[in-house]
Amino acid sequence: MSSTSIEATNCFICRKHLGKEKQPPGGYIHGGHHFLVCHAPLKMGTSGTLFVESKRHFLDYAEMRQEEAAELFEMLRRLFPLMKKASDAERIYSLAMMDGIPHFHLWLIPRKRGARFKGVRYLMRNYVASGKATRAVASKIKRGMKSEKEL
Ligand SMILES: [Zn+2]
Repeated sequence: MSSTSIEATNCFICRKHLGKEKQPPGGYIHGGHHFLVCHAPLKMGTSGTLFVESKRHFLDYAEMRQEEAAELFEMLRRLFPLMKKASDAERIYSLAMMDGIPHFHLWLIPRKRGARFKGVRYLMRNYVASGKATRAVASKIKRGMKSEKEL
């Protein structure tokens, strides 16, 4: 982490990247130059819910640098098919709110095939992921990101 601003030292995500907060289940799945990918805590969503977190402390797309934007969208282009396959998801929802923590992070939420609810109604449900399913999904995505890199 290169930023040493006051915001960064008080920021949960910055501290998490430095290993000073509880680490994500199964650790980080993927790391780029500008972003890290991890599974969400089990109580924060269904199995396969991922966070893409910027390494640099900034708020949102307005403050995103060109090279960060390029890496983010290439990363999403690769993650979406892997997430769909790993979670048997028909859609991947992506949300960036930054109301809880003012550090850029994107929620990637798989909406399972055949789910009773869709869209906002799906997001309003209080899903809790199982540790076993989370490890399986995270492992598949991690392998997929690695193998694609080797091509
Ligand atoms: Zn931060």
